[in-house]
Amino acid sequence: MKKLFSIFGNPVSHSKSPLMHNCVFKSLNFDACYTRTHLEDGSKLKKTFFSLGLSGANVTVPHKEAAFDACDEVRGFAKKVGVVNTLINENGRLIGYNTDADGFMYAIEEFKDMKHILVLGAGGTAKALVSRFLEDGIKVSVLNRSAKRLEAFRELGCECYTWDDFVVQDYSLVVNTTSAGLSDENLPAPSEMIEQILQNTAFVADAIYGKLTPFLAKAKQIQLTYKDGADMLLGQGVLANELFTEGTLKKEAITKAMQKSFEL
Ligand code: NDP
Repeated sequence: MKKLFSIFGNPVSHSKSPLMHNCVFKSLNFDACYTRTHLEDGSKLKKTFFSLGLSGANVTVPHKEAAFDACDEVRGFAKKVGVVNTLINENGRLIGYNTDADGFMYAIEEFKDMKHILVLGAGGTAKALVSRFLEDGIKVSVLNRSAKRLEAFRELGCECYTWDDFVVQDYSLVVNTTSAGLSDENLPAPSEMIEQILQNTAFVADAIYGKLTPFLAKAKQIQLTYKDGADMLLGQGVLANELFTEGTLKKEAITKAMQKSFEL
């Protein structure tokens, strides 16, 4: 029987997930269809999931915490961060996973020798990535515009700075997780600070996708190797698709098919 999947979010019309997953299902002959569901009230997630007869789903802003609460069981990294982005219907039980952070690790696989990562920003994405980096024993520093959100990162074991007390060190990778550059032309920190940081890192990444952010443009200018958020989006999608297809498809084949959706 054809399986049905969906993404829940608000807004959800911009999401690339239906295209990404349908591309895999179609090219690898997996009998399934992936749609999108606009959801206003996160507390209705579980009910809506089952009333639509879904086999699985993804969850995006602002329902990732509500998805965690809706699950009968949460597995792996999702349990640690309290944030779920992938749901699986396992014999009528709702199982939650988080593929965002592992997706990012998958995206930066070719960046070897990660010893010290500087994370720009202290929001939800930063929290998931930082927890994942620390799990791998990587030293993590966090630089944020304001001090309020940094306390939680200090408790996790990071060195934390605002723009006022920042001291540059040597980094293997710098990741922008702020929304600076998303719908404006802002840098994630003052220009001179960004230039200093870029001169002291081996690799650069940005969580924003679909455009060359001013931050990545600066990295490009000095010929650093960089990744934009598309690879992170692809990484989380590949891992979610592996869960949806229950290991029946090869990861390399999923990646190749999903990559094609970025060219459409
Ligand atoms: P949050 O709202 O949780 O956090 C935003 C962070 O950005 C805060 O630390 C905030 O600082 C900082 N910030 C906002 N504007 C500026 C600015 N002009 N200059 C400097 N810092 C700024 O956002 P999320 O963590 O949910 O998302 C962050 C980004 O990651 C978004 O652009 C989102 O699109 C992207 N994303 C990409 C994914 C992918 O698959 N590629 C997946 C998930 C997210 P302060 O604390 O001072 O307010």
